[in-house]
Amino acid sequence: MLRRATCPRAGLAILTSRLRAGYASTASTSSEQAKLDSKAFAKTLQLPNTPFPLWANVADVEGKYRASTCDSLYKWQWENNKGPVFVLHDGPPYANGNLHMGHALNKVLKDMINRFHLLQGRRVHYIPGWDCHGLPIENKTLKDLKVHVSQLSPSEIREACQATASNEVESQKAQFRALGIMADWDSEGKIYRTLDHKYEMRQLRIFQKMVEKGLIYRHYRPVHYSPSSLSALAEAELEYKDDHVSHSVYVTFDLEETPNETLRSMLDSQDVKLLVWTTTPWTLTANMGIAVHPDLVYSVVKSQEGVLVVAKDRVEALTDIIGETEVLAQLTGQDLLGTSYRPIFSALPNASTQALKVVPASHVTSDSGTGLVHCAPAHGTEDYQAFRAQGLISNSHSMICHVGSAGEFVGSVAEVVGEEAAEKLVNKSVLKEGSRAAVDLLREVGQVVKVKRIKHRYPYDWKTDEPIILTATSQWFANLDDIKENALEALQEVAFIPPISRNRLEAFVKSRSEWCISRQRVWGVPIPALYEIATDKAILNSSTLDHILSVIEKKGTSYWWSGPVEEFLPPSILGDLKAKDLQASDIYRKGTDTMDVWFDSGSSWSMLPDMGVGQSPTRRFHADVCLEGSDQHRGWFQSQLLTAVGAAPKTEKPSSPYAMLLTHGMVLDEKGRKMSKSLGNIVSPLTVINGGKDKKKEPAYGTDVLRLWAATVEYWRDMSIGPTVLSQSAESYRKIRNSARFCLGNMDGVAGRQQLEKVPREKLDLIERYIMHELYKLEQTALDGYTTYNFAKVANALTHFTNITLSSFYFDITKDCLYADAINGTARRGVITVLNHILDSLTKVIAPILPHLAEEIHTTRVGDATSAFMTPWTPLGSEWHDPTAAAQMETYMRLRSSVLAQLEQARMNKHIRSSLEAAVDIVIPEGASSDEFALLLQKQGVDTLKTLFIVSDANIVNALSEHGPTEGWLYNGTFKTASGLELAIRVHAAPLHKCPRCWTYTRPEEETLCGRCSNALHH
Ligand SMILES: [Zn+2]
Repeated sequence: MLRRATCPRAGLAILTSRLRAGYASTASTSSEQAKLDSKAFAKTLQLPNTPFPLWANVADVEGKYRASTCDSLYKWQWENNKGPVFVLHDGPPYANGNLHMGHALNKVLKDMINRFHLLQGRRVHYIPGWDCHGLPIENKTLKDLKVHVSQLSPSEIREACQATASNEVESQKAQFRALGIMADWDSEGKIYRTLDHKYEMRQLRIFQKMVEKGLIYRHYRPVHYSPSSLSALAEAELEYKDDHVSHSVYVTFDLEETPNETLRSMLDSQDVKLLVWTTTPWTLTANMGIAVHPDLVYSVVKSQEGVLVVAKDRVEALTDIIGETEVLAQLTGQDLLGTSYRPIFSALPNASTQALKVVPASHVTSDSGTGLVHCAPAHGTEDYQAFRAQGLISNSHSMICHVGSAGEFVGSVAEVVGEEAAEKLVNKSVLKEGSRAAVDLLREVGQVVKVKRIKHRYPYDWKTDEPIILTATSQWFANLDDIKENALEALQEVAFIPPISRNRLEAFVKSRSEWCISRQRVWGVPIPALYEIATDKAILNSSTLDHILSVIEKKGTSYWWSGPVEEFLPPSILGDLKAKDLQASDIYRKGTDTMDVWFDSGSSWSMLPDMGVGQSPTRRFHADVCLEGSDQHRGWFQSQLLTAVGAAPKTEKPSSPYAMLLTHGMVLDEKGRKMSKSLGNIVSPLTVINGGKDKKKEPAYGTDVLRLWAATVEYWRDMSIGPTVLSQSAESYRKIRNSARFCLGNMDGVAGRQQLEKVPREKLDLIERYIMHELYKLEQTALDGYTTYNFAKVANALTHFTNITLSSFYFDITKDCLYADAINGTARRGVITVLNHILDSLTKVIAPILPHLAEEIHTTRVGDATSAFMTPWTPLGSEWHDPTAAAQMETYMRLRSSVLAQLEQARMNKHIRSSLEAAVDIVIPEGASSDEFALLLQKQGVDTLKTLFIVSDANIVNALSEHGPTEGWLYNGTFKTASGLELAIRVHAAPLHKCPRCWTYTRPEEETLCGRCSNALHH
């Protein structure tokens, strides 16, 4: 105690750098001898010593740990961890193109979750996947080969697509590895691809189960069809644009006959026309009727365009189209029913003249248009439904459709417009020149009242960004009405983060009644249906599938295209043909449709039970967690649920394939804009890691800084990335790194640490107990953050702890003790004990986010090839929870702020340069015996004060017995304790001489060491 009283644990905040710079104390006599002494003494200080570098060559350093903390670690934990299995089921990214920031965010978030669970002692099951079929790969392949789809056989296309997809997978895999994702990337069966044979077979078995449950059917009806993709699309593949421009037309249809007497009497003396508005004039060749609402009132008006029938409520709004009008009669929609009209193109040579009828439809309103609706059931869902309901469509031939697979008019349009006019339409795109040609024909026959450009909401193909059309084709559908209720019931058991996303997924499920699952492309899993050539009747049932799948099982899905049809016919059918001496290929053909890729990826859950980690008596769900972007509510989240519920036995209680869904938002640029090539604002994850061409503008931050960014953002919303946030992440990373480096440096390597005996908790000083309390709090916050998937909470607590608690406070005030005290002095051992704990906890707290840094710290400490993840995270016990120390230190910290303000005054007035040149008195007034803090001050003594203020001397004095310094400079301040007691603060010059070793002003005479230093050197 005596030694401590005369030689304080004051700080050496600026000492280290001066010593390193090699110049001597400016306040000592500036003789050569003094300089030599200082240098000689500097060597006797315990200055930090560690091979752990400051931040340099990140990529090199991280590269050293990549394999051990990713591939090897995954394998090790799967073989060695004894805890329960944790399954994070990977949603497969599309295997095409370089990774963007959304991919990086997605995989890093998953990796943080996996690594946290690993540290909890669980066996992590994570199999990264790729979605490999579908149009973009088919298009890319054809483009690379510079051929059109028609120039190659399906087998040739499939082979080339397989190669393209495999290459893309390898390229993306290399990029994912650069993100430090823990997985077994190279071993057989430890990644999945939707093109793998086993994967395809599982998918086909799911399809078979849905067929057996009667959920799959074929239908000729209008569907969303993308001419640019040459395929039908599901609702999930559409993107609606609000600024689509259409050339809408107002056209007239001439009445022919009517059962209504009023109208008939008018028809006898003049022409009466029905006025109709449509935004898709190209569908007029497919007109099959005009719909009215039976309850609406219609007016017969005289106008500049002749006598017209329009809804009464629309007459005024139509003034700018048809001019002023005179009402001749009024009737209801009901009155108009059964009225016939001439086809709109009937005036063209050889055009169809067969009259068409006015029909009732409940979807007609008087909100827009004319209140009369042109019906083309082949091109409108509502038209189709209205016509079907009235029995007007009995079979696929009773629907008029003149649109081919490329979205062009086909030859059959001649049946409506005549051969001559048809030449102007055939092979022209209905969305482009075909539409204009149709309007020209309408003008030719004098039926156009007005053409009007309108901007409106219109569906686009989300992959090609081209508009789609509604057109009738034969497609395969999954009936969702039959499984919707079960799917919604299954979702009841699923947890959602953020919780609001439950509504989103439920709304998507509720709003769909069928899922169009067929696509007209070859790069995919076949829909293995057989067709009778004569009738085009499809055959798809349990027995055909049993046989076909057994063939595909042996020969692969491509054999569906290359093999002869007889091989795919079940023995029963084949036997019948033989008995009748018929050739199989004359009677049957194989279907050419492939499955929607959402069916591919949606069946991914089925691999989990195959891998032994699926639903079981001990596991309620196949996957514990799925985490994807919010667009997957209409994609993968939904298609997994629908295939799982659809394929489940009817008797089983509906069950979800996943226990929890996490959703992340989109990554935007720093201004909150979507990243796009045209804006030039794309931030590439690999550029963040490796740096850009100009390293000053785009520094090489390394993987961990990128991961720290991902941990910092509130990922459940849309988030921003750019130079500013990245440099902030880099700064936070630097603070964390330097904190670790400080701890490592002062532990003096493995040997130094082992020598020192730890100080038990009850013998630690108040400051040390306080730091341990803060460390305990950090761990608890981090555990809570990781457990609730709130990584921003972890990152914020971590940044606060390293910036504020360590860098700005604890490391600053402990330097003097660490450097200058006797190596095994109690106080120094106390600090070292705390630094050890800090490093233990910090390594675990950062490990899920910053695995490379955690491994680097671990290796520096342990010096062997083990991984920081091989020992579970054992957090500090609750004995370190010390609210008393925290409350006491809170008051000390307030006092410290007041004193530092006085010291700053002295520094500004050039009385001191370093706080070590100062001494501080805390003057306790009379009647302080009941003040808690005054009592604590006296109990703790002056050492705590010297340490906290980094001064050479401190005194706690009684106001009565004391008069204060009588000479030199002096600063006075005050401080109020919690109970309102006012303490006086006096800052004045330290009275003693400077010690050449530790630079505190603590030695009574010149030319000698202070007591503490002398002690340190002699022990
Ligand atoms: Zn000293």
